Parts: sequence; C-alpha cells; structure tokens
Amino acid sequence: TPPSEATILKSLNHAQRRAVTSQSPTVAILAGPGSGKTHTLTSRVVWLIQHAGYQPCDVIVATFTVKAAREMKERIGKILGEDVQKKIVLGTFHSIARRYLTSYGKRIGLDSKFNIADDGDTRAIIKRICERHRLTVDPSHAKSWISKKKAKGTSAAASQNRQKDGPHTELNTCFKEYQEHLERSNLLDYDDLLVRCVELLRGHPSCVSNVQTVLIDEYQDTNGIQYELMKLFAQARERITIVGDPDQSIYGWRSAEIRNLYRLLRDYPETDEVSLEENYRSSQSILSVSLSVIQEDKKRYQKVLLPVHAKGEKPVLRKLATPSTEGDWIVHEIKRVIMLFGGMLKYEDIAILLRSASLSRHIESALGKAGVSYRMVGGHKFYERKEVKVLIDYLRVVHQPDNNDAVARIINVPRRGIGEATIKSLLEEAEQAKMSVWSVICKHCRGERTATTKIRPKMEQKLNTELVRIITSLRQKAETVTQSSPYTLINLVEQLISQLRFKQHLEEEYSIDHEQRWANVREFVSLVGDFMRSSARIDEEALPEVADLEQTKDDNMLGKFLANVSLASDAQRDGEEHDKSTLVTISTIHAAKGLEWPVVFVPAVYNGAIPHSRSEDVDEERRLLYVAMTRAQAFLYLSCPLYGSQGMGKVELSDFVEPFASKAFASRGPSFDRAVLKTTGRILGRDVPSEKEIFDKLPPMFATEDDQYPANPVDFKNADEPPNADSGDGQPRALKRQRISDKAI
Ligand code: ATP
Ligand code: MG
Repeated sequence: TPPSEATILKSLNHAQRRAVTSQSPTVAILAGPGSGKTHTLTSRVVWLIQHAGYQPCDVIVATFTVKAAREMKERIGKILGEDVQKKIVLGTFHSIARRYLTSYGKRIGLDSKFNIADDGDTRAIIKRICERHRLTVDPSHAKSWISKKKAKGTSAAASQNRQKDGPHTELNTCFKEYQEHLERSNLLDYDDLLVRCVELLRGHPSCVSNVQTVLIDEYQDTNGIQYELMKLFAQARERITIVGDPDQSIYGWRSAEIRNLYRLLRDYPETDEVSLEENYRSSQSILSVSLSVIQEDKKRYQKVLLPVHAKGEKPVLRKLATPSTEGDWIVHEIKRVIMLFGGMLKYEDIAILLRSASLSRHIESALGKAGVSYRMVGGHKFYERKEVKVLIDYLRVVHQPDNNDAVARIINVPRRGIGEATIKSLLEEAEQAKMSVWSVICKHCRGERTATTKIRPKMEQKLNTELVRIITSLRQKAETVTQSSPYTLINLVEQLISQLRFKQHLEEEYSIDHEQRWANVREFVSLVGDFMRSSARIDEEALPEVADLEQTKDDNMLGKFLANVSLASDAQRDGEEHDKSTLVTISTIHAAKGLEWPVVFVPAVYNGAIPHSRSEDVDEERRLLYVAMTRAQAFLYLSCPLYGSQGMGKVELSDFVEPFASKAFASRGPSFDRAVLKTTGRILGRDVPSEKEIFDKLPPMFATEDDQYPANPVDFKNADEPPNADSGDGQPRALKRQRISDKAI
C-alpha cells in the first residue's frame, strides 16, 4: 500500500515539510551540512509522485555521485516500491545525459554506440597528442584547460577563432587534435556527454517534452554547462527544485560555479527559498568546531545551523612523529573504538578521509599490518588493474570497434607477435585513409591490400584468426544481449575470456602473481553478475516514450555495463568478497560529499596537504576541510605528523585549525571514553552497552591514553575546560540555540 501523506511527512521538521510540499514552481533549499537537504529532496520526489499527481517517468533527479544516486533509489524504492522507483530518471548529470544521447543522439549525428572516454583515457590521448605535435605544454594542464573550455560550452573551433595567436596557440592545437581524435574514435569524454546533450535538447526540445519537474542535489557544485542542462531538462514546465550549500562547494577546480545560485534566482524570480537550520547529523561539539573553521572565511554567505544533538565530546587533535606513526595511531584508535563500543559500532561505521588519494599509503600499510580490512573510494580503482582493464578494452572494442585507443591497447595482448612497427603502420594507414584502425585491420583481413602497405600477409593472417574472428563473433552475440535474453552478459564475458585463453596468458606473462590476477578476473566476472542483478543500478530503465518521437532502444546490456564502468568512479572492489560491515572506508574528501559516518578520521591536517600546496584557492581548501569534518556524527579525529610524507620535511599544523588547536580540541583520555559512550548511542539511535560491560573487558593496552604514541602531543592549555565554552575572544563559541549570524556579508 502506498504511504499516506502523513507517513511521508512524519520524519520531517516544519521547514522541511514546507519545502517538500511547496507549490511554487521553483524551490531552492539552501542549508548547511546534515540539515537534511538530501532527505528533504528525496521526500519531495516521493510526495510529488504520491500526492501531487506526477508520473514517475516524468521526473528527473540529478545527484552528484553514483553512490548518492544509489542511496536515493534505495530509499525511494522502499517507500514507493521498486517498480515506481525504476521509472524515475535518476542519476548523475553524466549518466542522465548518456541516456538521452543513447536514445536520441542520432538526431545530432551521434552513433548510439559511442564509448565514454574516462579520465585515464583522456589523459593518455592528450599525452600522445602533445608528443606527436611536440607541444611544450604540460599534458595535465592541457587536460584541465580543455575541460574548462568545454564546461563553458566553448568548442575547439570557437576557442581557436577567439585566440588566433598568443599564449594559447599550443593549447588550442591540442584541443582541436583531441576533439578530432575523440570524434574519429566515436568517443565522448565526460564534458562531451554534457555538451552534446545540451546540443540535443536545444535542437530537439521534444525529447524532454514529457518532463514535468527536475530536482537537483548538491547544486553548489554544478558548473555552467550543467546549469544549461538543468534548464533544458526543465524547459517544458520550468519546475525545478534545487538543494545545496555554498559552504560545501569543492569543485571549483572543475569549473563549478557558485554563481549558478544567483543565476537561478535571476532566471526564476518566483523561487521559493527555504532554509533548514537544524543539524541532525553531528554532535554539538563536532558541529561547533567545524563551524569555527568555516567562519574564518569572511566572504561567505552565512547561514544558521543549530545542533539538535547533545554536546558529545570535543574532536580529538593529535600530533604524531611521522606519517607512518600517524597511520599506526589511527589503527590503534580504530581498534580501541571497536573494542569499546563492541556491538554498537562496527568497522563500517568508520571512515578515513583524505585530501588526496596519494596520502593513503601509510594508512593502508598500517591497516594491512593490523589485519583491518578496508575499501578505497575515489582512489585506485579495481577497473584500472591491468588484467581487468584489458578485458574492459576488449569489451569496448566488441561494443564499438572504432575506438582506436582500445584497439591499439589490445592488439598484442595476449601476445600475438604483433610489434610496434605493425601497430604504427596500421595507425598511419588509418590516418591516411581517414578510417578507424579497426576498419583498416578488417580490410587487410579481407585481402584488400593497398600497394603501399607495410603489413605482411603472414601478419594479416594472424590478425584475422587471432583477433578479428574473435571480436566479430562476439560482436554478433553482443547485439543480442538484453536484460532478458537467454545468452547473458556473463556468457559473453566468459566466452571472451576463454577464447583469449586468458588464464594461460596470465600464467605465461606473470610468473609470480598470476593467481592474484586470475582472482581479479573472476572478481570482474562476479561484478558483471552483480551489475546484471542489481536493481538499484544506474541507467537501468530506458527513457519513457515520448509521443511521436522515435527512440533508439537503450537495452543493450554491454553498452550499459561499459557506461557504468566509465561513470561509476566509486565502484570499488578489493579482490575478495567481504561482509561490508567488516570494512573501514578510506575515501578522498571529494568522494565523501553528502555522506556520513559515526566515526571520522581526517589525517594529514598540515599546510601543504590541506591547504594543498598546488591549490590556487585557499577558501576552497577550507571548505574541503569543513566538508570532511561535517561528515562525522559522534567522533572526529584530526591528526598531523611532524614530518610530511614524500620527503616533505618538517610540516606545520594546518592554518585552518591552528587558531583553535589549543581550545577547541580534546586529547583523548579515559574520561573521554565515558563521556563519548553516553552521547554516541543517543546520536546514532542505537542501544548502548553498559559501562561495566565495556570497561571490564577492555584489554589494558586500550584502557588508558595511548602513550605508545607520545610524539609531541598538542599543547592543551585548557584541556579540562568544558567543551565549547565561550572563551570570550571570538574563538569557538557555544552554539546553544543561539543565532550565529543570519546576515549575508
Ligand atoms: P550534506 O550537506 O552533508 O549533504 P544534508 O543536508 O543533505 O547533508 P542529510 O544527509 O539529508 O543532510 O541528513 C543528515 C542526517 O540527518 C541523515 O542521517 C538524515 O536521515 C537525518 N535527518 C534529516 N532530517 C531529519 C529529521 N527531520 N529528523 C531526524 N533526522 C533527520
Ligand atoms: Mg546531502
């Protein structure tokens, strides 16, 4: 039975309710972390469908990460049922754009079987172009420069016209070559997905004529092109709900524009603005210190954020000697927390959030030493492992063989005696004939030789029997693989693995670790299985039928799977199957956006790491730390080594926390345990074990302050002072239902 209105609104406070049921065409919810923005947005989707007469297939919901999309789907599925949930067009901007381009891209001359160039592909292509054209620009600079142009909707030609000479000549050359390369290979990069979708919806508004309303989470991190896209999605009825928090804008480096907020208010002056002022996530102490950090940014738009939870304990700040002792300390503390709160907290309740993925090394090795399992989010990816990547490249070629990069990578894996020289001549022939490498190979295999070719007949034969035949037969099969076909995606992948004699290839190629690599291959197959089964996966359903509009059917499982691989930046596996509750999460701060954990560690809080030495925007770095700290519900640990990693030498505690270091933070001691115990259960709404139960069974090594790690503890002048006492000098202030300031500055 569908939920009554009262049930939907039950879990909401007054302001949230007002936002959920607002009749205004445009609604903007701007509020701080943990104030229930995402919760409210999800409830509004449910309410619109259940009580305002919206059809699920006419609703578009854009989230920022794949993970957030999955969580939202799960929640909606629970309330409205799977069938309704599946009909909603819900996903990241990129995945929604992909669906439109697959279904309607023909109208703008796009082959529906495009592949997506992910970050790694893009980097490799640009690097090659720089080498080939002897450009002196730094490829990674070129990459972000091009991306920024695209995010503004500037094409390669337009960019070149605008700046004929001058400092950007090389960058423009790179941009042009890069774009041509993508087009030749039928590849779209992340930016193209958005740019081409804008082109499609501008030229063919009927594709979205059914859309009744558009809802967007994490709006503060949309860029210019996403703003365009939002407007185009909503063009039929101009009903938009956005939620966001300017203080959590952390994607400026990827062209996110805070200005989009003002643009929205300008473009839709009738917008109903709702602010949510209560923080349901964190203890009062955690919130208070987090706010102290962000309030140092004097230019920000100030909002009210009041704790609903008890005070809890101050966050812990700890200085350690080296990054590796820091890792050890974190692991020691994790074990202690699990030991103390056994039953109430599990490993899955703990996250370690890093400014950059490269900082994970010491943490990973400390966890490894102690036998604590973890999963990595936003760092090194399962799909990037060599043996897995080869299989993915094969599947990409099977799906869409014009992908020259993928063809070049697999042509001699497993070894077929095809050398660099052959690959080079194939590439040259392709270039001259303005054809894809694959077409050239096929031509050779059909015996259509050109007079100038350098490819020997023996080689042609090899290519034919060992590559072309395999791909061709798999291509025919792949065409038939849909959700319900008897020949499944798993069958296809298994057939590929066996025809390549992949196990044998691994044994021959990797004498030492071929077993591990084979295990990864099996894991990959099981991931394919997960993908097929998972009801919450991205892009499951095709777009709704729109009257009089022909749609290319988006039911090819291989295409969907590959898109999922390219877009799911957080699809991680670590080899073995694990019970999720036994895994600690290591994540970049960027990838942790919108999420929450009972226990959060933020290591490496020093100048150089955060603020990052290469960042141009100090305020964005501060917001990053704020995002990290506000993920925590009950425990927050910040730490900092005396010596930075990678030979950085002596480092200093981050300027973002230095001013509060002595007052706002605690050092963890026995009294800490008792205090935290009481509040944690309440914040999490979980049963608390009795003190006796806990302290009696605590092994001695965990019973007191961990003086195994004494390296320069932070000087706590007022360690005994109660948390959040107002020191009177403008330093961290008690929040006790007191308005911080509600004036915009
Ligand atoms: P962020 O800015 O970090 O994305 P958010 O504003 O989206 O945060 P949510 O993730 O929606 O916040 O909510 C934070 C937590 O508060 C969640 O656990 C959510 O279930 C809970 N919550 C939200 N609203 C309420 C409420 N009215 N009553 C009780 N708990 C709530
Ligand atoms: Mg959120």
